[in-house]
Amino acid sequence: MKFKQKVFIFIVILIVDMILAWGAVRMWKGRGEIFDTHEGKPVDTGRIPVPGEGMTTEVSGHDHSGAGRSEKAVSDLYGQQEDIAKKYTALTFDDGPNPKYTKPLLDGLRERGIRVTFFLVGECIDGNEDLVKQMAKDGHLIGVHCMTHKDLTKEKLSDAAKELWAAREKIRAVTGTLPEYVRPPYGNWNAKLEEAVDMIPVFWDVDSIDWRLKNTEKVTAKVVKDTEDGDIILMHDEFKTSVEAAFRIIDNLTAKGYTFVTVDELMVD
Ligand SMILES: [Zn+2]
Repeated sequence: MKFKQKVFIFIVILIVDMILAWGAVRMWKGRGEIFDTHEGKPVDTGRIPVPGEGMTTEVSGHDHSGAGRSEKAVSDLYGQQEDIAKKYTALTFDDGPNPKYTKPLLDGLRERGIRVTFFLVGECIDGNEDLVKQMAKDGHLIGVHCMTHKDLTKEKLSDAAKELWAAREKIRAVTGTLPEYVRPPYGNWNAKLEEAVDMIPVFWDVDSIDWRLKNTEKVTAKVVKDTEDGDIILMHDEFKTSVEAAFRIIDNLTAKGYTFVTVDELMVD
């Protein structure tokens, strides 16, 4: 072989080597890019991404923070509407104070920062003055149920008025405040009573029938199902099941966006 031919072959081999070497470098760099972008495809090792490493964690992390941002954005955007759409309800308890069950109810309400309305029976206040004081101190609204739990519409008007007046005075003697609201026993009320007694009658929208059910789960389920925005809920603080149900109702309805208020606040709103 002539010298010129040898030089030509050498140059050709050199060029081919350079091309192969360049191709190899490109491939290597390409691998690096694939790892860096976490496309999640098995590159060349069959290596399975493990939690805390590679795309699995990163992608889920991105999804999560993305969802968080979008929730916040929606919340900011509709913040005003959400406030307007806020729901209110009022828990009311008749027939107390009860020497056994009113105390745990008051303590549980205090723990939860919830205020309710009590319609008291005058003759039950004797010996339970501390409970009535705690009601007033904790910001609950105290109204009158009656003095001796009579159907006021079946009494002489003057007797019915006395029933309410005596209970009112009894509450004022303990709390220093004269009650303005009355929950007539059995919900029985009429225009003559309205005229004769300078009090605001309060009825109810949701009857827990706790006195009949005496079952925590059933009372809770009924009230949570029946309650709508602006409703007054009727309960009695004379049963263990009613006290337990009250706390569950509070937890359930709070989770549904309800705020608990006293009946005077509900009536103003
Ligand atoms: Zn009653």
